[in-house]
Amino acid sequence: MNYQNSKDLYERASKVIPGGVNSPVRAFNSVGGTPIFITKAKGAYLWDEDGNKYIDYISSWGPMLLGHAEPDVVKAVQETAVNSTSFGAPTRLEVEMAELITSSVPGVDKVRMVNSGTEATMSAIRVARGYTGKNKIIKFKGNYHGHGDSFLIEAGSGALTMGEPSSPGVTEGTAKDTLNANYNDLDSVKKLVEANKDDMAAIILEPIAGNMGCIPPKKGFLKGLRELCDEHNIVLIFDEVMTGFRVDFQGAQKIYDVTADMVTYGKIIGAGLPVGAYGGKEEIMDYVAPSGPVYQAGTLSGNPLAMAAGFTLLKKLKNNPQVYEELEKKSSVLANGIGQILSDHDIPYTINRVGSMVGVFYCEGPVETFDDANRTDKELFGKIFHGMLKRGVHLPPSPFEAFFLSNALTAEDISNTLTAFEETITEI
Ligand SMILES: *Cc1c(COP(=O)(O)O)cnc(C)c1O
Repeated sequence: MNYQNSKDLYERASKVIPGGVNSPVRAFNSVGGTPIFITKAKGAYLWDEDGNKYIDYISSWGPMLLGHAEPDVVKAVQETAVNSTSFGAPTRLEVEMAELITSSVPGVDKVRMVNSGTEATMSAIRVARGYTGKNKIIKFKGNYHGHGDSFLIEAGSGALTMGEPSSPGVTEGTAKDTLNANYNDLDSVKKLVEANKDDMAAIILEPIAGNMGCIPPKKGFLKGLRELCDEHNIVLIFDEVMTGFRVDFQGAQKIYDVTADMVTYGKIIGAGLPVGAYGGKEEIMDYVAPSGPVYQAGTLSGNPLAMAAGFTLLKKLKNNPQVYEELEKKSSVLANGIGQILSDHDIPYTINRVGSMVGVFYCEGPVETFDDANRTDKELFGKIFHGMLKRGVHLPPSPFEAFFLSNALTAEDISNTLTAFEETITEI
């Protein structure tokens, strides 16, 4: 394949955009080479600047659950844009969106729209702190909640009582209020709560981890967190930016039958436009300005284009629950096929999957924590990534990202993907 136009653009981009990209995961840092620049996408396919076509397993990192340029979504955006792209005043669409979410999702009595998943999680922990009057939060190693300062914190030497910045520019003052527990390890959470009993405002997690491959919660983990939070008056926040409307219309809360106090959304909720949302119990959400004292605002929040796109997609998903069954079938064919090829070639592997989130780890299982995920063979991953790319399959360019399937994928696409995988593995 020829990538010359992408290479040229990347060279230009690198002079005027840090690292040549507007979000780090798009750079090919963990796989080598230069990123491909996309010109258009339709359904399950992408085309790049050199005219190469790819089967897409990133789905814009989640939103394109029904495929790219979904005709009803495109139409809604076009029709809305004609009447202006923003008013800075309330609209009917925002009400309908909030009604759709609150009437569908467990535990969400009220919801506030924002512009990204990052904004949703940042706002949620502020509200949790305001509501409880406490300061500290617990997050989990390997979970991702966007780039808010409070989340760019790792466990340091005094891990039981404070964290340390994992990025320059984050202050120690911020770090001291974020503690890190191990995913799927309830005891690690209990120890942190015990050591900081009177100051624990919130526990935030991905109820199915999707940013360290795919790691589902172990049996009893979410329920255990729920009990711990009830016992100590801690706000339990499910970050469903990835899982919301993907694993089920009602998200991971439904699948595992655990209701959080607050939930954050992003990605699918905007159908590819920049949207996030946070919601929860009425008594908590009433702390948000202007009904309550916790300040949070946004000039473009609830933007009409974003609401039109998101509302159209969500309504389609709600009215077509068979989408989730179809995705389940396609994803299992893909995951089983990949597993078969890897075992035929005696390559150690573990595949974790929840619905259309598929995590392939090139190591023995089980993979239940970040440390487990980190055992994946990264060199092999890089080779497989490039082998697939040159055969026209667009996989996430990081060993710590799951595949996100769209329902636009056909049985033939999946079969072609498996053929490409077989060829790639044979070549390596
Ligand atoms: C993508 C993601 C975010 C951040 O969302 P942005 O829209 O990129 O700011 C937060 N939490 C989870 C679980 C995510 O997957």
